[in-house]
Amino acid sequence: MAKTPVLTPRADDFPRWYQDLVGKAELADNGPVRGTMVIRPYGYGLWERMQAEMDARIKETGTQNAYFPLLIPQSYLTREADHVEGFAPELAVVTHGGGKELEEPAVVRPTSETIINEYFSKWVQSYRDLPLLINQWANVVRWELRPRLFLRTSEFLWQEGHTAHATYEEARDFAARIQRDIYGDFLENVLATDFVAGRKTVKERFAGAINTLTLESMMGDGKALQMVTSHELGQNFAKAFNTRYLSKGGTQEYVWQTSWGSTTRMIGALVMTHGDDNGLRVPPRLAHIQAVVLAIKGDEAVLAKVRELGDQLKAAGVRVQVDDRTDTPFGRRAVDWELKGVPVRIEIGPRDLENGTAMLARRIPGGDKEPVAIESLVRLLPGILEEDQELLLKQSRERRQARTADVSTIDQAVEAATAGGWARIPWAVLGEDGEVKLAEHGVTVRCLVAEDGSVPDADDAPGNVAVVARAY
Ligand code: AMP
Repeated sequence: MAKTPVLTPRADDFPRWYQDLVGKAELADNGPVRGTMVIRPYGYGLWERMQAEMDARIKETGTQNAYFPLLIPQSYLTREADHVEGFAPELAVVTHGGGKELEEPAVVRPTSETIINEYFSKWVQSYRDLPLLINQWANVVRWELRPRLFLRTSEFLWQEGHTAHATYEEARDFAARIQRDIYGDFLENVLATDFVAGRKTVKERFAGAINTLTLESMMGDGKALQMVTSHELGQNFAKAFNTRYLSKGGTQEYVWQTSWGSTTRMIGALVMTHGDDNGLRVPPRLAHIQAVVLAIKGDEAVLAKVRELGDQLKAAGVRVQVDDRTDTPFGRRAVDWELKGVPVRIEIGPRDLENGTAMLARRIPGGDKEPVAIESLVRLLPGILEEDQELLLKQSRERRQARTADVSTIDQAVEAATAGGWARIPWAVLGEDGEVKLAEHGVTVRCLVAEDGSVPDADDAPGNVAVVARAY
């Protein structure tokens, strides 16, 4: 008898599959206000691991965490012209408090450049106070018109880095370092996710930035997702908030700044990159549960064995969970862990115990279960987890390579993107007019890359290639 699929198959309806998976793997529910979301414990566990890995990398750069208020005086937002124009349509504004109309409305932060600059202006006096490197973990609100769980919610969780430097070059290099060493390293080595690193065109730039760096990944259906961004803000906010320092030469100078963010969108990316028709597949280095040890039956000897093995694996450094909920049918529990994408399941019943073996099910290669000597598991598991981590990265890289076409006309670019892939087209051929034409077909320039694949210094650098796609 054919198994009834638990999820809508990806090939039938990718968005529906995504929605099914997010619900059935217990990652999140829709919140009561449109665009908001409730992150459930299993989804939040993934976020906590992302935070821990990201936070460690951020601190490596000498950046320190701080916290700024959720509510920002509305007047702050209006001080940088591009910034207010970009964010005005997405703002949530508080007009009343304590039953009274406020003298000045307060904006719920959509991002914190403005309020942070207000304080940077107080904290920075001289060149000795620079660089100033601050990060905040917080929630922000952007009133999104087309929300989708994790990928685009009206309230999301993120880290936002904000830095101030003495020179243009130092700020530029810091923004590039964040893109490469923090975000690039995290995506490749933790999320096992392939990406293209580039710069945004003027049209796609962050409101108030002089340059936006991005990492773009290909999802399972061939669409693109902007994973993270790192901005060079130039002196735009420094001028709007009068953030100046006394230089070594004794003159007053505006600081040069960066800002950079990564969000709960990465959980959606994880689903869309690594998920399959049976559910999620979590990269082992990210997984908060790397292995689950299941008791098939509630037999005393079996329960004792799964608990003992759980302790041994934990002592060996594996993030393990014991599933001894034997009053729930075994088949249901197995499907549930499969949906949640836990990399390894170790199943033990009375008959396995007699043979001294367990059934080992590896979620990532998706192969059959095989019997393995229980006593060898502690030794084998770290190697298996590393192998599966590598496999996910390889699959994600091969997908992009297979589904990216080099093209020479705008029509070909539209065709490739509409067919569910990416196209690379010379920027000299496309240009800003071509970018507008692409938009008519729902296709956007994800980023510009240099001929050798590096991140270009300028939009119009010779040899620049535009990577274009449909995007989430
Ligand atoms: P930004 O401050 O606009 O550069 O945003 C930083 C990053 O947040 C972007 O690169 C996106 O990956 C992510 N992001 C933007 N809007 C949303 C949203 N509505 N929900 C989740 N993540 C978002």
